[in-house]
Amino acid sequence: MTINNSYVDQAPKQLFIGGKWIDAESMEVDDVVNPATGEVIAQVAHGGAADTEKAIEAAQAAFPVWSSMPVDERAKIMRKVADLITEKADELAEIMTIEQGKPLAQAKGEVLGGAESVRWHAEEMRRIYGETIPGPGGHLFLVKKEPLGVVGAITPWNFPSSMITRKISPALAGGNTIVLKPSPETPLSATSLMKIFQEAGIPDGVVNLVIGDAPAIGKALTSSNVVRKITFTGSTGVGKMLFGQSADTLKKVSLELGGHAPFIVFDDAPVDQAVTDLVSSKFRNNGQVCTSPNRIFVHESIFDEFTDKLVSAVKKVKVGNGLEEGVDAGPLIREDAIGKIQRQINDSVEKGALLATGGKRLTDGDYANGYYYAPTVLIGVTNKMDIFYQETFGPVLPVIKFKDTDEVINMANDTNYGLASYFYTLDLKRIAKVSQGLQYGMVGVNSNTVAYTQTPFGGVKHSGFGRENGHQGIDDYVNVKFINLNYGIKQFN
Ligand code: NAP
Repeated sequence: MTINNSYVDQAPKQLFIGGKWIDAESMEVDDVVNPATGEVIAQVAHGGAADTEKAIEAAQAAFPVWSSMPVDERAKIMRKVADLITEKADELAEIMTIEQGKPLAQAKGEVLGGAESVRWHAEEMRRIYGETIPGPGGHLFLVKKEPLGVVGAITPWNFPSSMITRKISPALAGGNTIVLKPSPETPLSATSLMKIFQEAGIPDGVVNLVIGDAPAIGKALTSSNVVRKITFTGSTGVGKMLFGQSADTLKKVSLELGGHAPFIVFDDAPVDQAVTDLVSSKFRNNGQVCTSPNRIFVHESIFDEFTDKLVSAVKKVKVGNGLEEGVDAGPLIREDAIGKIQRQINDSVEKGALLATGGKRLTDGDYANGYYYAPTVLIGVTNKMDIFYQETFGPVLPVIKFKDTDEVINMANDTNYGLASYFYTLDLKRIAKVSQGLQYGMVGVNSNTVAYTQTPFGGVKHSGFGRENGHQGIDDYVNVKFINLNYGIKQFN
């Protein structure tokens, strides 16, 4: 397939610092690969510690400008950003599909969701309310919310646009400035967003972009006293490391880390709805989603009916280049993702699971040069298998049989992760018990969706802490200041 995207062809090989596109100190570049074809589609700058320090300085210099700008003016710029993203949604979606692989319709949904996030935060920033508290005679106690300063943001490749807008929007709403390090797998979504911020008239240095040497950039951000918060989405291992690195400078830290979501189907659940929701949720971004259903618990009384319907639905999932019409699932991001999935499947089969469909890399015809994997269902998975505990991040549905409610709550909680969880039942008492018993940051009840701009997104346990979206998301980007105001009039409080 010939790809003709003018942005990809002319993508900037520079970093965006202090409102200017500048060369990386190293003058080196990194290749960007299309996972659907294995082809190099562009090159981007390879930045490092010195570039990050420049970006931090630029963000520091811009902080008084942005934080003291009247809220209406800041909101106007953010609304302009949202409008531009919406206007350019088709082009941005194509850029994303080319560098990341997800089907075009999903990419456009992500881009428009990102625009909505910017717009919502542009409104919510007018509602960063404080409090007054009764004090002793003559005193009024005031509680104000103030910006933190410079924020360092590190984002992954699986949602190359929305992971960025989800961090930049609350940071800017809170009055902060930002240094962003996106994933080197998907830098073009990041550079194209920077162009939009520039076009919308964001003051120089408010938003800065450094791509390149992750450990060097990470160290420069975490060790800086100027950077007052690190916000990270990615793997639990890297998140823990960044948390440790941030200890010395006592920064605020928000970590959106891995997940291993249970999807529980009780005996009274509407089976057809549960199968449809499960398949659409699992094959969204081909399972490369932190909230993707990863362990499917099905009650023994409906197990055979459910698995038959599931296998037949999964066989209909169309895998291909995300630019093609009708494709449900694109390639995986990299070659090594395939190796990890294959090891989990082999281990499950060796320990007794039944491979009902899939279980192999796709290599024929158009699949030859991309990182494609067949949609897979494993039946009869147990906690003796690696897949029960390891995050999969691919198109695999491991199905586990259960007998009763307490047993399944225990099995669902038998993981270090605690991000998203889902269950299907119509019994109100059971809904109350299970939604309370699940040790997760988010619970979908008869619903496969837990991410909305207006609701708090985040996890517990090794899935991290801090929230994005909702008014709780902005609270993570402000400091609370107490002011004791003495009027000197005893009767007043
Ligand atoms: P990753 O390897 O942790 O990478 C995430 C980001 O961290 C990338 O930009 C990466 O850059 C950077 N990074 C890696 N090592 C670093 C270091 N030493 N210092 C600073 N930055 C560093 O994760 P991934 O494979 O891209 O993403 C998949 C993971 O993210 C999964 O575990 C998934 O569950 C999780 N995730 C969580 C959420 C959520 O909201 N909870 C959402 C999406 C994804 P390089 O690639 O250059 O190393």
